[in-house]
Amino acid sequence: MRKKVVAGNWKMNTTPVEGVELAKAVVAGKGSVCSCVNFIVCPPFTHLSEVMKVTRGTGIAVGAQNCAAEAKGAYTGEVSAAMIASLGVEYVILGHSERRQYYGETSATLNKKMEQAFANNLAPIYCVGENLAEREAGKHFEVVKAQIEEVVFNLTAAQFEKLIIAYEPVWAIGTGKTATAEQAQEIHAYIREVLRSKFGAKADDTVILYGGSAKPSNAPELFSKPDVDGGLIGGAALVADDFLAIGKSFSK
Ligand code: PEP
Repeated sequence: MRKKVVAGNWKMNTTPVEGVELAKAVVAGKGSVCSCVNFIVCPPFTHLSEVMKVTRGTGIAVGAQNCAAEAKGAYTGEVSAAMIASLGVEYVILGHSERRQYYGETSATLNKKMEQAFANNLAPIYCVGENLAEREAGKHFEVVKAQIEEVVFNLTAAQFEKLIIAYEPVWAIGTGKTATAEQAQEIHAYIREVLRSKFGAKADDTVILYGGSAKPSNAPELFSKPDVDGGLIGGAALVADDFLAIGKSFSK
């Protein structure tokens, strides 16, 4: 049985005070959701320390949205994996399409970030996904395969065991358009097959999340699919009731 995970990517939203309120509301409502669901909240860097105080001991894990590619030193404006991990943060989102698109993150950069994350015991949530033109050209399989081969295939078996993958079609992120449950299942199963070609049966335990305009109304159908192990949630993670309702969507 794979873990069920619902992770919230708050992106560049909320002030620290608002973020603490949001985290408190998630903590307060968690009891209404099956304890089989693993919640992760990923606030901006500035909130991590205070959000950790709210979530510690509650079973809700915290992730960062990014980390530096280097360990330390003269990299103005960067935040290292060690700094993040020192707060008790357990996860880091890497390779989000907004980072790839707006900040030019390549597989080369992501390999370095992965290395930093693992060196500091942060479990990466590695995002893959095609853009609209790639989907329309029928290239989505090859795009995600390359994103996996160029980064995930460099991991050791022990590192791979800690990895979470998020399939996020770029055309569905923040657009209100969602992949159908069938489209999600098709590509999640494909991703697992690609992972199996390198890591064998360990891929059967890999958590693969769907991301892209997931909300309480569409999560039950998405999560009913055998290879969809939960969601990476953007907009709907900013409303505690919606985030919790998504956690209640698991029927399996
Ligand atoms: C995301 O950016 O990770 C995401 C899935 O966003 P949204 O849910 O808002 O589409």
